[in-house]
Amino acid sequence: MSEPGNPMPPTHLADMDLAGRVAAVKALGHQGFRAKQLSTHYFGHWVTDPAEMTDLPQSGRAEFVAAMLPSLMTPVRSLSADGGATRKLVWRLHDGALVESVLMRYPGRVTMCISSQAGCGMNCPFCATGQEGFTRNLSTAEIVEQVVAGARMLRAGELGGADENAGDTASALRVSNVVFMGMGEALVNYRRAVAAIRRLVDPVPEGLGMSARGITMSTVGLVPGIDRLAQEGIPVTLALSLHAPDDELRDELVPINNRYKVDEALDAARRYFDATGRRVSIEYALIRGVNDQSWRADLLGRKLTERGEGWVHVNPIPLNPTPGSKWTASRPGVEQQFVERVRAHGVPTTVRDTRGSEIDGACGQLAASTA
Ligand code: SAH
Repeated sequence: MSEPGNPMPPTHLADMDLAGRVAAVKALGHQGFRAKQLSTHYFGHWVTDPAEMTDLPQSGRAEFVAAMLPSLMTPVRSLSADGGATRKLVWRLHDGALVESVLMRYPGRVTMCISSQAGCGMNCPFCATGQEGFTRNLSTAEIVEQVVAGARMLRAGELGGADENAGDTASALRVSNVVFMGMGEALVNYRRAVAAIRRLVDPVPEGLGMSARGITMSTVGLVPGIDRLAQEGIPVTLALSLHAPDDELRDELVPINNRYKVDEALDAARRYFDATGRRVSIEYALIRGVNDQSWRADLLGRKLTERGEGWVHVNPIPLNPTPGSKWTASRPGVEQQFVERVRAHGVPTTVRDTRGSEIDGACGQLAASTA
């Protein structure tokens, strides 16, 4: 297994913008225009097999492709759930670190949940990844490659649940949404995570050509990172993992709250909306008897509305208990009451689904159980 301070994987095409790729290709003794050809293979066709790259000279092709598109991860486990519409993947990275991603089909769209770090240093006590601790940041290409791998699997028909009657034929082949809700705190790995977002949204062949609107960056609430992201000019959706509206409880559930308080995180979220026009999501894992009281729903509703209207919605999710956890999900009636109470303040609130919970689905548990 990997030790702290492990080096990054070899540099990959997806670590670089097009200008960087041209320079890298030339450094390998090839002509600059080859960068665009390789980029079209990778970002346009999700191809890495030199045998398929017939527009490249045959002599030296394999070495060239190996240098520009080194293998970054190998599949270790793949589990299906929700009648085939959810697929959970565990990858082993070059240094042995494990990360996971999840592909989920919904009517008319496919969402991929990706990791930005191996492990996580944020130490949230209800989160499986938080228990495991931090191993290392993922490289930009390791983040991007999860999405490319997902796109390939979709194309190969490895995700079930497509509904042709619902017009899923075209959308069935595309990863339409990406959420940074796998392992890690992406804003700690800021530079690489933002570069990965650029690779996702840049048009082919520079990137995958996804819509920024389909991308959600989820964070514990690192205020400087939120403010910096707001200035990048990429209107991704921000999700703030709040989980408690009061500092006393949030200090325990999301330990970074000891540094950036509830009000500071919410102010940053509001500034993010002002800068991008993207409605912010508030994530709230409902934990029985811990954060699901009516007074907390009211406090949450007040804190959001006192910062304005129409800028935010709340996404409660029943806690997915980690093995050995002293906590469990709120009772359904309590969950419903919490939702209605927040809504009564005029804040749109929808319970997030719990895809894949029967396969250690949500939240770092699969990699933990594999290790
Ligand atoms: N570090 C980022 C993204 C990773 S976690 C963040 O904290 O936002 C993605 C979401 O899953 C977060 O809202 C996180 O709080 C939530 N989560 C983690 N463990 C969970 C669990 N056991 N049950 C329900 N939600 C959980």
